[in-house]
Amino acid sequence: MDIRIFHGNLSPDDVAQDLINNFNRKPYIARKFISGEKSIVQIVTEPFPSSGGQTALTATISPVEDGISVQIGKQEWLGVAASLGKTAISAIRNPLSLLGRLDDLAQDIENLQLSEKVWGVIEASAKMAGATFELSEKLKRTICNYCNTPNPLGESNCIACGAPLGSVQPITCKNCGFVVTTAENKCPNCGSAI
Ligand SMILES: [Zn+2]
Ligand SMILES: [Zn+2]
Repeated sequence: MDIRIFHGNLSPDDVAQDLINNFNRKPYIARKFISGEKSIVQIVTEPFPSSGGQTALTATISPVEDGISVQIGKQEWLGVAASLGKTAISAIRNPLSLLGRLDDLAQDIENLQLSEKVWGVIEASAKMAGATFELSEKLKRTICNYCNTPNPLGESNCIACGAPLGSVQPITCKNCGFVVTTAENKCPNCGSAI
């Protein structure tokens, strides 16, 4: 499971719609679900050569404090609809022929390295909206543990009470955008060195 966090002004549905626009056309089929504040997009490839599995790539896009969190994983094409008890919002082309050929999809997904393409679209979408792995201005504030004063990022001591702030300063993982503190030396999300 691959999770990346984009800090900036964009909503889950902006990114979901970009994925639909990019992938709901040949050789792909994509569909979108809304579940609460989350947008979920599933993508498979067509045509379907013979090889096994029923796996689709699933991007789950959730709102976070100052942007979105995107999780990409593999799930059965029918799994999301079943778990949500919903039908897809975006149209599926020729659904009957698709259902008969689910077994062929997984190999395509592996072969085409679809997840890399999907990350490419998501990152381009985030970039257009000015969102990055860097903390947004909104989160670039450190709340002093002692007096609750918001301090600018990088301040070593609280501007109001002088308490040391070093270890509580928020930073982000350069690899995935996860918010960590300077006290951590390894990203809890992706394992990269901070
Ligand atoms: Zn303080
Ligand atoms: Zn990370």
